[in-house]
Amino acid sequence: MSRAVAFLGLGHMGAPMAANLVTAGHRVRGYDLVPTLLDGAARTGVEPAPSAPDAVADADVVVTMLPASRHVLDLYDAVLPAARPGTLFVDCSTIDVADARTAHQRADAAGMRALDAPVSGGVVGAEAGTLTFMSGGGEAEFAEARPLLEAMGNKAVHCGGPGAGQAAKICNNMILGISMIAVSEAFVLGESLGLSHQALYDVASTASGQCWALSVNCPVPGPVPDSPANRDYRPGFAASLMAKDLGLAAAAARAGAVHTELGLRAAELYAAYAEHAGAAEDFSGIVRTIRDRSGE
Ligand code: NAD
Repeated sequence: MSRAVAFLGLGHMGAPMAANLVTAGHRVRGYDLVPTLLDGAARTGVEPAPSAPDAVADADVVVTMLPASRHVLDLYDAVLPAARPGTLFVDCSTIDVADARTAHQRADAAGMRALDAPVSGGVVGAEAGTLTFMSGGGEAEFAEARPLLEAMGNKAVHCGGPGAGQAAKICNNMILGISMIAVSEAFVLGESLGLSHQALYDVASTASGQCWALSVNCPVPGPVPDSPANRDYRPGFAASLMAKDLGLAAAAARAGAVHTELGLRAAELYAAYAEHAGAAEDFSGIVRTIRDRSGE
């Protein structure tokens, strides 16, 4: 069934996601603060709207793909009064769990329905339509959003009530951040012991050290030809985004007094890396800071 979709936030992720909704036969009206992004989206069949409230006015579903919590909450305040009662708001941004619950409450209070649906898969997944969506909200809202999520991705998981999608996202990325540091430390330790990258890869990728950070996004060039290490750590998944997600996980852990020792340390290491060399590099480039600091 073709839906009228408002898509707010047409950046690295939002633009290809909106384009995939157009390809799937939906009518998409888009808005971004950056006029050139709106022009680019128009070339993929997205109808440019003059403002966010205008974009949502006749929408069945409003999808947001924005940088952070404050953008989502501010934009919800701006557009909720302009939407038709009962419109489904699907936020795909990665934001704090508590802020996601606030977004649900504000939508409910305005007579709307809401789903948090952050994604995994990066820009490559957004372009290919192979994202994984992690959703939080009611069963009916998830069922309604599902055809749209499946037009933009190849997997949509209903994780629970409001905020559960964001919770799944930051827990998954805490695993990923910690495991990338573990794999990177192992390669640097192996180097100092005279072990070749290929030898460690051949063992660990089929032994108990196997994980995505090793076998798909391998942080050293050679063993996995497509990994960002082979293109001087061009992302991929930028270290700045990993730092953001680990910061959200750390804040949630502190708020709940949960003892995530490695998660907190990973957040510190990625914050330092993103602040200096790594902001625009793939997050696997952290191997270079581990190597640089070794022998100090
Ligand atoms: P981006 O900065 O490229 O895009 C965000 C867009 O939102 C920008 O174009 C910005 O102009 C627009 N925007 C901000 N405020 C707005 C407003 N009030 N109205 C309309 N547009 C507004 O960011 P991105 O890389 O597309 O990431 C978006 C979200 O997806 C983030 O929460 C990020 O953490 C998450 N995410 C990104 C990736 C990735 O690989 N890039 C992967 C997974 C999740």
